[in-house]
Amino acid sequence: MRYGIPVSLPSVVPIDSSDEVFPVRRIYCVGRNYAEHAREMGFDPDREPPFFFMKPADAIVPTGSRVPYPAQSTDFQHEVELVVAIGKGGCDIRLESALDHVFGYAVGIDLTRRDLQIQARKMGRPWEMGKGFDRSAPCAPLLRVGATRFDQGAIWLTVNGVTKQRSDLSKLIWSVPEIIAHLSRYMELQPGDLIYTGTPEGVGPMVAGDRVVGHVEGLPNIEITVG
Ligand code: MN
Repeated sequence: MRYGIPVSLPSVVPIDSSDEVFPVRRIYCVGRNYAEHAREMGFDPDREPPFFFMKPADAIVPTGSRVPYPAQSTDFQHEVELVVAIGKGGCDIRLESALDHVFGYAVGIDLTRRDLQIQARKMGRPWEMGKGFDRSAPCAPLLRVGATRFDQGAIWLTVNGVTKQRSDLSKLIWSVPEIIAHLSRYMELQPGDLIYTGTPEGVGPMVAGDRVVGHVEGLPNIEITVG
């Protein structure tokens, strides 16, 4: 078999303290997984369980990148998130063994065209144009830690040195094992999958020239500049 056009190589995320990279198969994202963020978006976190959406794998951008202000939007927003990298796949993964499927963790930013997302939400339309656009998934190098729990520690994001988002992983509504168990009932997870686990409160707009830094305690920072 010969391909009729050049074949794209998979997007990759560097593995921290290693010369290896993690090839990205799929990017799953959890919606409204911190109570205060659900409230700032106009929802009651006690009445609505979290849900999943996706970004294309080639939306990944490495730390240190300049991310161009996206087309068709005037409300380009940041959402700092803990990212889980799946190293072992499975369906119907049990809660007790969910962490065995974790390869490592990273800090990511779920970049959002908020105006397009809200318009789609109001009209009952798909979210891709608001969430899954080009270069919408900055991801810092992965820390390879296997079945380690990441369920407490600071998570924050600054824009030009000013803190915009600050919370703690202990405030995740659904924990990492719960997310893995739940998602794997809907989709077969595979090595190479990333899961953006949701953002805390304080999301907001960015403008050209902004320098954005995202942090989760114990992980390498993600840094981007809005172009
Ligand atoms: Mn998000």
